[in-house]
Amino acid sequence: MSAPIKIRNFINGNYVDAISGKWIDNYEPMSGNVYSHIADSDEKDVANAYEAAQKAFLNWSETPIEKRSRILIKIADLIEENQQVLAEAESRDNGKPLSLSNLVDIPRASANFRFYGNAITQFASEAHESTGLQTINFTLREPLGVVGCISPWNLPLYLFSWKIAPALAAGNTVVAKPSEITPMTASLLGDICNKAGLPPGVLNIVHGLGPKAGEAIVSHPKIKAISFTGGTKTGEHIARTAAPMFKKLSLELGGKNPNVIFADCNYDKMLAVTVRSSFANQGQICLCGSRIFVEKSIFERFKKDFIAKTQALKIGNPFDKQTDIGALVSKPHLEKVRSYIRLAQEEGGKILTGGNTVHPEGYENGYYLEPTVIELHDAYCRVNQEEIFGPVVTLIPFETEEEVIKMANSVVYGLSATVWTSNLDRSLRMSKALEAGIVWVNTWLNRDLRTPFGGVKNSGIGREGGFEALKFFTEQKNVCIRYE
Ligand code: NDP
Repeated sequence: MSAPIKIRNFINGNYVDAISGKWIDNYEPMSGNVYSHIADSDEKDVANAYEAAQKAFLNWSETPIEKRSRILIKIADLIEENQQVLAEAESRDNGKPLSLSNLVDIPRASANFRFYGNAITQFASEAHESTGLQTINFTLREPLGVVGCISPWNLPLYLFSWKIAPALAAGNTVVAKPSEITPMTASLLGDICNKAGLPPGVLNIVHGLGPKAGEAIVSHPKIKAISFTGGTKTGEHIARTAAPMFKKLSLELGGKNPNVIFADCNYDKMLAVTVRSSFANQGQICLCGSRIFVEKSIFERFKKDFIAKTQALKIGNPFDKQTDIGALVSKPHLEKVRSYIRLAQEEGGKILTGGNTVHPEGYENGYYLEPTVIELHDAYCRVNQEEIFGPVVTLIPFETEEEVIKMANSVVYGLSATVWTSNLDRSLRMSKALEAGIVWVNTWLNRDLRTPFGGVKNSGIGREGGFEALKFFTEQKNVCIRYE
């Protein structure tokens, strides 16, 4: 076996070890083996990253927009050119099928840089003439300074770049931390940024544990804003730490999204998309529809067809072209998901299919789990209220719109919702009634990067996407001029 890869911090344009000289094991989900070692950073490394970012800020924030834009677009081009290497790294690190990394994760990371490279050239601010008072107000939108970006493991480069690209486009410099469970593609990004001509110190990447390296970013008194995507509990903790320092916060947190299926929908299309919205990325997408509510008149038909489609999914090595479902991201996460399957049984749920771990030949110690469908009669039990974040969905019948809206809105989360119907009035009524930041009607995961993205209730605060992210990463200053 080859020596484990070393994943170093990227500070001031150079790859460096953590000051402590310590490393953390990184496991390969498909095999369960340690395949890399990650710099175990602490507040000293974050302090160095901050210093580099602070030094780079003046030049970067004064760099003409066209030049910043060109560099970001060059990063997008280089991600595209290195698609294969990055996709393989993502699948190895995360366990997701290579086909998915190739189709979604890496193209989207490139699209994030391209989008914000272009968007910044169109970002304008307002002017107000106070008629009769002989004054004109205009608003400057200034970069914040050094900002912190912290991202999770489920869509590693995709979500890392979704924060970094607007932060850099707006003229900030960045200290960023990917999840220690999936640091590989973030680490490769450093090299790409150097090749694209991003000046040293503009982007600094610190690896390590959330409660140590992540915590050091959040509690650094001079880091002006935190853009965080991850679990609701971590988000709560971050908000508590950052609030007394009056940092700007954008929090994209957990979800428990309803998928509401009415009998009048386009059945075949709904069925195909619902399999995807349930199990894509092993169900580890914050937007997956984990609670499936089906109108009673088609419940039995749906149950039979959905089980058949679920059982046809091929579980196995992410690098195998036939694989639909790869490995879950880590052993602790696999155990967490399995504990919810046990809880479902204790709560009276019936496992219609799945529920078992899988041990593909040659990869017996990988973290594989069958896609699992659970029929529930109590929409309010814990399994149907708490985020599981794995290949597990629940099925619940309903009779009226009123009833399903009540059940759908009963959770503490409000990230996304999906509705299947061919009735326009109903689709509009449901879109208004569902408590969510995003409602998809007759589609799922359909994203236009110009639209606002984020959740309500415990799914977070703030919006990313489009100009919203550029607004977050800038501070407004009103200038009022009186003329004689
Ligand atoms: P976590 O909250 O565990 O971690 C997210 C990031 O925060 C990681 O980089 C983690 O580091 C870091 N972190 C952990 N503790 C701290 C801390 N005290 N201070 C600062 N940083 C910290 O989430 P997961 O990685 O488990 O991701 C899954 C969650 O993310 C799910 O709840 C999912 O719904 C949510 N999510 C939300 C999305 C949205 O857009 N709303 C999109 C995607 C996921 P480390 O991993 O090294 O511990």
